[in-house]
Amino acid sequence: MDRSGGTRRRAVVLVWLLGAGLIAVAVALNISFIVVNWRAGLLLLVGVVSFVVLIGGLALNTAFLVREIRKSEQHDAFIHAVTHELKTPLASIKLYLQTLQQRELDSARRGELIDTMLEDSERLQQTIDQILLAGKTGDARRVDNPTDVDVAEVVGECVHLAGKRHHLTNGEVSLVDRLPCGTRVLGDRDELVAAVTNLVDNAIKYSGDRVKVVVEVASAGARRVAISVRDQGIGITSVELKRVFRRFYRLPDALQSRVRGTGVGLSIVRAVARRHGGRAYAESRGAGQGSTFTLELPLKT
Ligand code: ADP
Repeated sequence: MDRSGGTRRRAVVLVWLLGAGLIAVAVALNISFIVVNWRAGLLLLVGVVSFVVLIGGLALNTAFLVREIRKSEQHDAFIHAVTHELKTPLASIKLYLQTLQQRELDSARRGELIDTMLEDSERLQQTIDQILLAGKTGDARRVDNPTDVDVAEVVGECVHLAGKRHHLTNGEVSLVDRLPCGTRVLGDRDELVAAVTNLVDNAIKYSGDRVKVVVEVASAGARRVAISVRDQGIGITSVELKRVFRRFYRLPDALQSRVRGTGVGLSIVRAVARRHGGRAYAESRGAGQGSTFTLELPLKT
């Protein structure tokens, strides 16, 4: 952990200790006040109410400070992750270009280098698009110019491209289409592609070496469509199921933090769902039990 991380952790502990200490003093004062003044009715009531307000205020203040410190910690982690995501592919492209410039290579080797550079530029593009989309979806509440989007077609495209991007060719990622042909939603195609891509990419990333991802599109009641992405990966504990949708939130688990990412993917999924009048949620039976993420959208009427 870097120095600022350690300093913040100490600050969180200090704020907690200070807050808890002050609350303890206030509670002790409150009790002695009641004991001393139990006969003086009105004065006692005013005193008790003031103490309760004081204690509540202290508790709120402590919780607020701790939350702000945590947020700032997550911002730092985000900046660090984005810098890494931008620098690494750029450095690799530069190195390969220098190699191509300085050496005579046979056409097979040249082809390999060019393929790698294309993959690196794709990764750069993805990171930049992701950050831009996080800003855009965070701003407005509704999609600007909605169009008809064929759900199975969009999801099929995302599954196909994710398989290619992660070099999965043996059916590790599959699509189950249970929708009537041509089922449509009204929305922004690019945003929906980004949301589904984030879910499929995550399912692959957090599966470790045993990738088995099933993407299913089906009706959810009479008016909604559900796109669910099920993996058999590292899973999520019940307390974290909601937190993972917060912006910049990444699970503190060491294994997960080794997986590359910036912590904005699921906040984009949630924002896209809301902008389309739908919702996004996660289910898991716990650590090591896999997870299912579902994006529910209203059907075009
Ligand atoms: P990241 O760029 O870190 O993947 P996300 O916002 O997409 O950011 O996800 C937030 C966190 O939620 C991840 O860091 C990871 O800890 C957890 N997570 C997301 N998808 C999965 C999944 N399919 N299985 C287990 N954990 C997941």
